[in-house]
Amino acid sequence: MIAVLRRLRSLLSPGRRRAIVCQRVVELLTDYLEDALPRAERARLEAHLAGCPHCSEYLAQMRVTIELSGRVESTSLSPAARRDLVNLYRQWQTG
Ligand SMILES: [Zn+2]
Repeated sequence: MIAVLRRLRSLLSPGRRRAIVCQRVVELLTDYLEDALPRAERARLEAHLAGCPHCSEYLAQMRVTIELSGRVESTSLSPAARRDLVNLYRQWQTG
């Protein structure tokens, strides 16, 4: 887990606070989709989603996955899913 975060962070230029927030949002999305988040946390997450096309897109992809599989697995943020996220940030950085 820590190793994943370090790797993600290493892909991002320093000072991109928004990207760090995005990492946190992605970590919380499974709980969000399961309605397992405290209300304050949920509100903060929704506020971020409203202003962040990257996380909105990621959420949309997760919703599709859930529709196909019928439920949120705690393993749904698999290494593959995180790899997708890293690719997303790469595209974002290179424009
Ligand atoms: Zn975001």
